Amino acid sequence: MIGVGDMVLLEPLSEDSFLENLKKRFDHSEIYTYIGSVVISMNPYRSLPIYTPDKVEEYRNRNFYELSPHIYALADEAYRSLRDQDKDQCILITGESGAGKTEASKLVMSYVAAVCGKGQEVNKVKEQLLQSNPVLEAFGNAKTVRNDNSSRFGKYMDIEFDFKGDPLGGVISNYLLEKSRVVKQPRGERNFHVFYQLLSGASDDTLKKLRLHRDVSKYNYLSLDSAVVSGLDDAANFRTVRNAMQIVGFMEDEVQSVLQLVAAVLKLGNIEFKPESRCNGTDESRIKDKNDLKEMCELLGIEQSVLERAFSYRTVEAKLEKVSTTLNVAQAQTKTRHKVMGVLDIYGFEIFEDNSFEQFIINYCNEKLQQIFIELTLREEQEEYVREGIEWTNIEYFNNAVICDLIENNKNGILAMLDEECLRPGTVTDETFLDKLNTVCAEHQHFESRLSKNSKFLTDHSLPHNCFRIQHYAGKVLYRVEGFMDKNNDLLYRDLSQAMYKANHSLIKQLFPEGNPAKVNLKRPPTAGFQFRASVSTLMKNLQTKNPNYIRCIKPNDKKAPHIFTESLIRHQVRYLGLMENVRVRRAGYAFRQTYEPCLERYKMLCKRTWPHWRGRAREGVEVLMADLQVPAEEFSYGRSKIFIRNPRTLFFLEERRRQC
Ligand code: ADP
Ligand code: MG
Repeated sequence: MIGVGDMVLLEPLSEDSFLENLKKRFDHSEIYTYIGSVVISMNPYRSLPIYTPDKVEEYRNRNFYELSPHIYALADEAYRSLRDQDKDQCILITGESGAGKTEASKLVMSYVAAVCGKGQEVNKVKEQLLQSNPVLEAFGNAKTVRNDNSSRFGKYMDIEFDFKGDPLGGVISNYLLEKSRVVKQPRGERNFHVFYQLLSGASDDTLKKLRLHRDVSKYNYLSLDSAVVSGLDDAANFRTVRNAMQIVGFMEDEVQSVLQLVAAVLKLGNIEFKPESRCNGTDESRIKDKNDLKEMCELLGIEQSVLERAFSYRTVEAKLEKVSTTLNVAQAQTKTRHKVMGVLDIYGFEIFEDNSFEQFIINYCNEKLQQIFIELTLREEQEEYVREGIEWTNIEYFNNAVICDLIENNKNGILAMLDEECLRPGTVTDETFLDKLNTVCAEHQHFESRLSKNSKFLTDHSLPHNCFRIQHYAGKVLYRVEGFMDKNNDLLYRDLSQAMYKANHSLIKQLFPEGNPAKVNLKRPPTAGFQFRASVSTLMKNLQTKNPNYIRCIKPNDKKAPHIFTESLIRHQVRYLGLMENVRVRRAGYAFRQTYEPCLERYKMLCKRTWPHWRGRAREGVEVLMADLQVPAEEFSYGRSKIFIRNPRTLFFLEERRRQC
């Protein structure tokens, strides 16, 4: 073992020794390290020979602590408790952009696919589950400064299994796709992969049918400076995606519809407007060159005059329902209850120089995940000790409930105030929203001294006039209010959705159900913030019913390069992922526990008095066993139904003795 495989065993424990251990292991290509059952994963930025079928066999059906740390061990543990103990699982993967979350989620999925049932039907389901990834990545991933294959949406996938543990299908939800990227990308970044894939990978014939040029520079929406990414073969990926769409279940005409839509978006980006003076002295917007418009309308089966009108006029009162963001790739729904394994791959905490609405929402989501972590891990732990009658020394830990409340409280949470301001008649701007925040939060501080002591809304006079600051669990973040109102409103004008609904193109029609004139809805649509809060709340409820498994991903350097361990960067991540706190809690308690029966079953061969049969109660058998093996008394405690082992070392010892038998 290089360094220490489980941080719980680290002596002495400090942030420095923690980092040293990570570095030592990283330098020897050991990218996985445990904190108890939590897996820390360092992105190696190179392919390591540790994901072979042989490795899968090695980790299959083995106990978590028997082998060196690996993501497969976590996947195996989760799958077996799902299959054998009927416990629904969730795999929570966190970390910043480029830390390896998406790769980790794919490794978990492919491991589970490799070890679960066999047979033609089952294999087909497995293929569909795995092939959903290239499709989602084509439409939702892009090259960014941080990651050449950055997911621009959060993803949660519930994989459903039958009673035998064979996969039945999956349901995918996605969160907060970065839609604005279609129109504009930061310098050095690209649009979503699919645009480049289509242009470089489609046949001449396909491109002709889609009225497209192969040349990226012909399209305003495709940035020029970074159209080609080294190591990324857009043409080959196009073929992969086409194939994956077919496996996932798209019919050929549906694939064509999707490609037409992609082409139409590129055309749309080329439409330019110019002002035209009217006789009453006002300016009106007119389309400069109508060729792109014409081609776009041909692709989508829309009458040109209809779309032209919709682009140039708007009915101001229109308030619309937004398209649901949940995409169901496969839905296996029968009446029996299924076992479920959820895999969450969602953006980590973001602190940039300039933080806007998106960061606010993403960080809110991370607060909630941290809350779940605290709730599920620590509270569960304490409750189990109480249930089992084991003594618990209370550990101080930071509870972030007060931050979540500041953001999501129905009455005066920040999101509620933002919604209120968006709805208020009269002149409302980002500044009036900020005024409101400052007033309400200051009032609190004035009237409720208890609240002000805990206040996570930081007011001080050094703040720039257009910003507010929040003390998140991961650090202080300054948010600039510009754009908050607009982004929260997220309005699409009715004229546009009605024009789209008129298209003679079934996919487009489906995407704009609110354009149906028979269903004109003058009710105000839910705001982006409201929708996100609702979907986060659904997600949290879902996660709470499951047994959590954690993968904490760390990005070793900013260069996307192998072998480089940038200490300051890693220290920062260790801090905001709360890893030290995690170790402390683990050390304060017991690293391992097991009910008496399986424990006795596994180790009874180590003692003459328990082998081959123990006639009494299982607990007494275990007591005899531990006494016989002379395990020091402070290393374990007897609970009502389980033995609690303080230290994985004891477990290693037992396993070792077993191997020698
Ligand atoms: P995130 O989803 O956290 O933003 P990704 O999972 O997309 O990050 O990882 C970014 C890149 O890092 C990947 O495209 C891949 O090149 C590399 N990478 C991540 N994890 C691994 C791994 N386990 N082995 C090899 N390369 C990896
Ligand atoms: Mg990702």
